[in-house]
Amino acid sequence: MIDFNVPPYIGTELDYVKESVEVNHKICGDGPFTKKCSAWMQDRFGATRALLTTSGSTALDMAAMLSELKPGDEVILPSFTFSSTATAFANVGAQLVFIDVRPDTMNIDEKLIEAAITPKTRVIVPVHYAGVACEMDTIMAIAREHNLIVCEDAAQGVMSTYKGHALGTIGDFGCYSFHETKNYSMGEGGAICIKDQKLAERAEIIREKGTDRSRFLRGQVDKYTWVDKGGSYLPSDMNAAYLWAQLEHAEQINDDRLDTWAAYDKAFADLAASERISTPVIPEGCVHNAHMYYIKLRDLEDRTAFIAHMRERGVCCVFHYVPLHSAPAGLKFGRFHGKDVYTTADSDRLVRLPMYYGMTDADRTTVIEATLDYFA
Ligand SMILES: *Cc1c(COP(=O)(O)O)cnc(C)c1O
Repeated sequence: MIDFNVPPYIGTELDYVKESVEVNHKICGDGPFTKKCSAWMQDRFGATRALLTTSGSTALDMAAMLSELKPGDEVILPSFTFSSTATAFANVGAQLVFIDVRPDTMNIDEKLIEAAITPKTRVIVPVHYAGVACEMDTIMAIAREHNLIVCEDAAQGVMSTYKGHALGTIGDFGCYSFHETKNYSMGEGGAICIKDQKLAERAEIIREKGTDRSRFLRGQVDKYTWVDKGGSYLPSDMNAAYLWAQLEHAEQINDDRLDTWAAYDKAFADLAASERISTPVIPEGCVHNAHMYYIKLRDLEDRTAFIAHMRERGVCCVFHYVPLHSAPAGLKFGRFHGKDVYTTADSDRLVRLPMYYGMTDADRTTVIEATLDYFA
C-alpha cells in the first residue's frame, strides 16, 4: 500500500535529539535547538521574529490573543480550511465570517473580502492552501484601508513565496505547522512569525505563560514575573532538535517534493486539458513548496469511485475539508457571507494524492498509472 503521507525523515534527527539530552542537558523549551530553528526562520524568511510553538494550532491561538479582540469582533476567513484556523479566533470570542474560495487555488477569494467587512471586522485570515499563496497584495491593501490585522495561516506554506516574500512574513502574523503531515516536522509543533517588534515582545510573554522570562534570560530584567495573560506554547528542545535536522536540509526536502509534484502534473496534463479533471493552478508570482497535489473530479460520486479504485490498486488517497460554515461549531460561532459557489461543491470533488518526502520513482509511477487507468 502506498501511504498518503509518510512523516519526513532525514536521518540525523535522532542524533540531535540525543545531543539535546546527553550533551546539552536541556530538554525543556528555548534550548539551543529551539534557538537554531528560530534564527534559521528569521534569516531565511526575513521574519522580524519567529517563535517555535507546540503546534500550528497554538501558533494561531497566539495570533488570536495578540489581536486583542473584543467579544463580537469579526474575523474574515475561508470556510474551506482546517478547523484550527477558526477555533483560534472562536476561543477569543470572535464572530467568524466565512467567505468563498477561488476555484483555481482554493484560496480565499480576495475579491469577496471587502463586501464582508463591517464596522466590527478586525482580522482577515488568508489560508495559503496547498502552500500556494493567496493574493496578498490585494489583501494587504484592503487591510491597510480598513485598518485590519492580517494573520496568515501558512501552516502548509513553509518555504513558499509570494512575489519573493516568504509566506508567513507578509501579514502581521504568520503561523506555520510542523505536524507530521507537513513538509517539515517535529511530530507536533509549529511557529509564529511576528512583524511588529513591540508585538513580538508581547508574543514572548504570552508564549511563556504570561511571564517576562524571555527578557530575564537575556538579562534585560533582573527577575521575572507574571505580567500578562498567556499559555505554555514553547515546545521541548527535543522536538526542536528533530526539526533542526530537517531545516538543515530544507532545500533537499523541498526539491524532492517538487519533483513528485511535477511528475504528477506532467502525467495529468492531458486529462486537465480535456477538462476531465482540474489540477492545481500556481498563479504568477507564487513559488510553492509542493505541500500537496490534488485533483478535482466531476462530483462526489466520481470522487468516491476514484478513491475506491485507487485503494484497490494499493494507493491511499484522501479528501478534505468539510466546509467549516456547515460544521456544528461553524454554525455556532460564525456565518457564511455571500454565496457558497465553490466551497462546498469543490470540497466534494477534491482528492489528494500521496505526497511525501522520499517517494520513490516506483511509487510515483504506481500512483500515476492507477490514476490514468481510472480515466481510461
Ligand atoms: C495543519 C494545519 C493547521 C494546524 O496545524 P497543527 O500543527 O496540526 O496544529 C492549521 N491550519 C492549516 C491550514 C493546516 O493545514
